[in-house]
Amino acid sequence: MSNPSLLILPGDGIGPEVMAEVRRIIDWFGAKRGITFDVSEDLVGGCAYDKHGTPLHDDTMAKAQEVDAVLLGAVGGPQYDNLDFSVKPERGLLRLRKEMDLYANLRPAQCFDALSDFSSLKKDVVAGLDIMIVRELTSGVYFGEPRGVIREGNERVGINTQRYTESEIARVARSAFELARKRSNKVCSMEKANVMESGVLWREVVTEVHQAEYADVELSHMYADAGAMQLTRWPKQFDVIVTDNLFGDLLSDLAAMLTGSLGMLPSASLGAPMANGRPKALYEPVHGSAPDIAGQGKANPIACILSFAMALRYSFDMGDEAARVEKAVEQVLADGVRTADLMGPEGGTPVSTAAMGDAILAALDASL
Ligand code: NAD
Repeated sequence: MSNPSLLILPGDGIGPEVMAEVRRIIDWFGAKRGITFDVSEDLVGGCAYDKHGTPLHDDTMAKAQEVDAVLLGAVGGPQYDNLDFSVKPERGLLRLRKEMDLYANLRPAQCFDALSDFSSLKKDVVAGLDIMIVRELTSGVYFGEPRGVIREGNERVGINTQRYTESEIARVARSAFELARKRSNKVCSMEKANVMESGVLWREVVTEVHQAEYADVELSHMYADAGAMQLTRWPKQFDVIVTDNLFGDLLSDLAAMLTGSLGMLPSASLGAPMANGRPKALYEPVHGSAPDIAGQGKANPIACILSFAMALRYSFDMGDEAARVEKAVEQVLADGVRTADLMGPEGGTPVSTAAMGDAILAALDASL
């Protein structure tokens, strides 16, 4: 069997700094676990624009379609703010998501015990939290037609259309049920079936997919506004939440903040299975390119490292190795190792990006 292949796109700002620590972990797996990846690296975002005049070269796009998984750092920066919309760094990322048809966005909200004081919620509400929000990413109101601002009589009218087909709902529901089977086997589907026809269809289709294919998974339904309340009241009641593009955008950001720093949050965007059975997949930290700290060795590499752990679990079926990485991160945090973004009010001396990488590698060594 050939090695699993990974395309690494470090991008801009702190992207290359945090990705350098992931590269060390990938090397560790080769040296210490005999798990070798065929790694290639390329440009995306502002750095691709600087070299090619486009934020994603066609050759890079073609490579992304061929590999088993893509791992991206971050894109963007103030020097690109005035570029034409069509060549802005973010367009590179959007092109990847669109052409790979990545319809299921996985946003875990996990609270490491050592960081439970960072949440705006009480410690016992968030300590040990581990939920997964699955957001539909390629349809819904952000894409529906008609859209635009039109004139009606003597005033302007802004229009967006919420539109979902059965197949779009069914495929993201399947992603959520499959994930639940690898976790605590519970899915809560959220929509607004009380006021939206698309929500009625969403609930019907999720129920049909459940009955036909996933009756072993526990399924519940909740209106998305009630879901927001429950997420802040007692988030540990959830395992996997599946929801549409708009509600998922809001609820995943809400859930993210339950856990503290932006530097800790990984994500995955998955599409249909390829010929080898693996889903099309893009893994990336939730944070951006953080130009305010770029090049200073201050960035927290954990979000990017945990994104690689998600790749191990969801693209390569190496759940045990993913857990090894996650436990190493947990250990390092429990030992009090902190980058600047994780410093609490009690203060202390922050470590650099590379020193955080060193500590995680040492914890990985200790796991053998
Ligand atoms: P940001 O996520 O880059 O930064 C927000 C704040 O969080 C900053 O103070 C930053 O220093 C801090 N931060 C972020 N990641 C961190 C990390 N790993 N360690 C320590 N601190 C961290 O968001 P922004 O400032 O709104 O955007 C900056 C640029 O990034 C913009 O060009 C924006 O368009 C782009 N962006 C890209 C993505 C992406 O690539 N997916 C996502 C969001 C923003």
